[in-house]
Amino acid sequence: MPTTLPEVLISEDRIRVRIAELAGQISRDYGDRDEIVMVGVLKGAFIFLADLARAMTIPRRVDFMGLSSYGRGGAQQSGVRLVMDLRESIEGQHVLVVEDIVDTGHTLHYLLDTLFARHPASLKACALVQKRSRTVADVSIDYLGFEIPDRWVVGFGLDYKDRFRTLPYIGTITPDE
Ligand code: 5GP
Repeated sequence: MPTTLPEVLISEDRIRVRIAELAGQISRDYGDRDEIVMVGVLKGAFIFLADLARAMTIPRRVDFMGLSSYGRGGAQQSGVRLVMDLRESIEGQHVLVVEDIVDTGHTLHYLLDTLFARHPASLKACALVQKRSRTVADVSIDYLGFEIPDRWVVGFGLDYKDRFRTLPYIGTITPDE
């Protein structure tokens, strides 16, 4: 386990500004909808979702899904598993998936497929960060916070062995395996 604090990649200030921008954009885009359902992906998205949802100005509900994938950086599609489902039906609802990170994109792809099969009125995706150079799955991210290099990142919900999630910035570490 690394003992030093992760090196800052994206500061707390930059994240705050970007989340406010995304919340404004989403609120404008969905301005004429009665309500949207924000689906957060546990555990990593809980902090991003909390800040994003509170910065938005349109009626919104929040629900969560738990997924598990194996291996560093996830996620062959076959390795993604649903471990906790939504509480409410999304049929006929405007759904915005909120992800912490898109790496290969297999997790988001699985999630969008799964939710699409439940007949939402619309389905979009928002992610805090993306390692675009590693994304191989055919996914489109409608709202993206930051593109990042191929490094292991922690903080703002993201972990390494379940640590560093509450770090207020996004930092990089070198995994010790
Ligand atoms: P995917 O490859 O399916 O896009 O991402 C699978 C999962 O791997 C992500 O949801 C996330 O849990 C994890 N992951 C990939 N890259 C990183 C990273 O740099 N940091 C952390 N904390 N998790 C990552």
